[in-house]
Amino acid sequence: MFAKRISKSQFMMGLQCLKRLWLYNYRKDLMPPVTPEQRQVFAQGRAIGALARGYYAGGELVAAEYNQLPRALKRTEEVVAGGAKVIYEGTFVFNNVLARCDILKRNRDGSWNLIEAKGSTAVKDEHLPDAALQRYVLEGAGLKIKKTALMHINGAFVKNGPIDPKKFFSLADITKETAALRPEISADLERFLEALASPAAPETGIGRHCSTPYNCEFRGHCWKGVPEYSIYDIPRLSWEKKNTLKAMGIMLFKNVPDSFELSKSQLAALKVEKTGERLVDKKKLARFIKEIKYPLYHIDFETIMPGIPLYDGSRPYQQVPFQVSLHVQAAPGAEPAHFEYLGDGKADPRPGLAAFLLAHIGPEGTLLAYNASFELQRIKELARDLPERGPALLALTERFQDLMKPFLERAYVHPACHGRFSLKKVLPALIPDMTYEGLGVANGGDAQLAYFNLLSGELTPAATEKLRGDLLIYCGQDTLAMVKILEHLRRTIL
Ligand code: SF4
Repeated sequence: MFAKRISKSQFMMGLQCLKRLWLYNYRKDLMPPVTPEQRQVFAQGRAIGALARGYYAGGELVAAEYNQLPRALKRTEEVVAGGAKVIYEGTFVFNNVLARCDILKRNRDGSWNLIEAKGSTAVKDEHLPDAALQRYVLEGAGLKIKKTALMHINGAFVKNGPIDPKKFFSLADITKETAALRPEISADLERFLEALASPAAPETGIGRHCSTPYNCEFRGHCWKGVPEYSIYDIPRLSWEKKNTLKAMGIMLFKNVPDSFELSKSQLAALKVEKTGERLVDKKKLARFIKEIKYPLYHIDFETIMPGIPLYDGSRPYQQVPFQVSLHVQAAPGAEPAHFEYLGDGKADPRPGLAAFLLAHIGPEGTLLAYNASFELQRIKELARDLPERGPALLALTERFQDLMKPFLERAYVHPACHGRFSLKKVLPALIPDMTYEGLGVANGGDAQLAYFNLLSGELTPAATEKLRGDLLIYCGQDTLAMVKILEHLRRTIL
């Protein structure tokens, strides 16, 4: 019952939550299977790591897999002794801690620079103990570390041809910060090894740490006693207030006392939660509906957000729209006409999508989106990235209205939404016979993954056709849902 060795990622788990570290060591059976979305994230991380090596080209890669530790250690010893100037994935053990270092660069005086590569666009707080631990292991293993740096993605990078790692990444010197953390590491390690020596998991309660700085894989286990529609579902409630309610013995949202300090929106949701009756402000709703001009364009985009830009003129993590659905109504209550665009999974989808928008959206009428700031921002980016279409695209941004507004502003609060405003919550509450259940692509995450699969070029023609069909059904459902929700709101004020 004693963990002989912990890895860098386990050290980071321990910093987040001792129980997470313990469960990871002894109850892996409680971990949910890796999802396709997570696999996509891991693949992206590996691709970023491989690109980072190009910043210090010509190094020696310690290629042993994670389960081949003795091989990795032996190979590292060999390349260090052999005089390698740059080592990728060098593997070291000191004081029961295992560290694999992204990049080590040897200096002329024999000392080393440690470079940790991250896929973020800035240094984050959690990166510092991560790098500090590696430095601790390396120094313990006998290497003299002169400099510690964090290599992160340069957020201002714009792709133009093949990616040059020297322009794609930025280096931040974190030598001082990691040195300052050195004294804490031994104490943390002692704490972690003591917890791991215990036959029982630490009694850590749930809280903010379950998702900060990383989502914990044991939520399904630790949160299973939390009832549905609990205090943790109250939108935008601070953790301080959640903890206060928990300390008061209140777990259900509907049991929160009226006197508890909540925002207007939270109070409205609480009232509806308690009474089970919907709350309608007909005047506000009527004002919202009156502002809508016809022809009305219900619009929805699907996007991918690749860390390494795929297309010239795009940036790291830019939301690149690859699909749009439009339901167009000539007058209130009129049968909508449907138009759609889906990129071919090969070329940059943006020029075709911009041309589609300008061909199908006439000079007048409202563009209605759900959470419109998303679509608005995408159109502004299209205007920036396709300057020849810029003025025409920017003109569209003047005509947007947000269908989420009546829900956000409490003009309509439905008990089945339990304080939430997303389309996926509002639709089944207002239009129970319209559901996303059973769809091949059933949410934005599925849509992203589906398009990445199309981009891979590895699908059979039949699988490609099926996936394209699923994407078209899903995005079309989003805008049809908006047509139905608006009709419902219209009927409500009659
Ligand atoms: S779910 Fe929360 S309490 Fe449970 S192990 Fe994870 S971080 Fe710790």
